[in-house]
Amino acid sequence: KPVNQMSLKLESRSVNESFARVAVSAFAAQQDPTVEEISDIKTAVSEAVTNCIVHAYPESVGEIYIWVGLFDDGLVRIRIRDRGCGIADVRQAMEPLFTTLGGERAGLGFAVMESFMDKVRVRSAPDRGTSVTMDKLIKGRGDGQS
Ligand code: ATP
Ligand code: MG
Repeated sequence: KPVNQMSLKLESRSVNESFARVAVSAFAAQQDPTVEEISDIKTAVSEAVTNCIVHAYPESVGEIYIWVGLFDDGLVRIRIRDRGCGIADVRQAMEPLFTTLGGERAGLGFAVMESFMDKVRVRSAPDRGTSVTMDKLIKGRGDGQS
């Protein structure tokens, strides 16, 4: 059970990507992370939110639901969910360099999330949406300045 949690609902507009990143990292700062840990969280949130904007709702503006839970052992759990087009084959989608927007995208978003976070779980169903849950255990007690 988290000791603290927050939820946000955002429109899938690219201007909201930086807001999501800053909002999540500001909340996660309660776990006293290092500057590097905060930077890792920002990078992972950016990738997940960008995927909602460009893939989940390619031709419209939809809603992005963000939930963050903080646990007493230092764990930060972030869930980024959409009700967009969904992913037919999650395993394939998570392979590095796989993209359905070739030419425009590198296909590295999930690989980046997995390298900067401790654990990434993806649940998705076509036409129902996608949920990405990412865990990071905050270890280095920061100096409170991040
Ligand atoms: P990059 O992130 O490097 O710009 P990318 O977004 O294509 O490229 P990933 O983030 O790894 O690469 O995602 C891989 C593929 O998974 C995407 O091309 C897309 O087909 C699918 N995908 C990812 N997130 C979603 C989502 N929220 N809704 C629908 N499809 C998604
Ligand atoms: Mg991506």
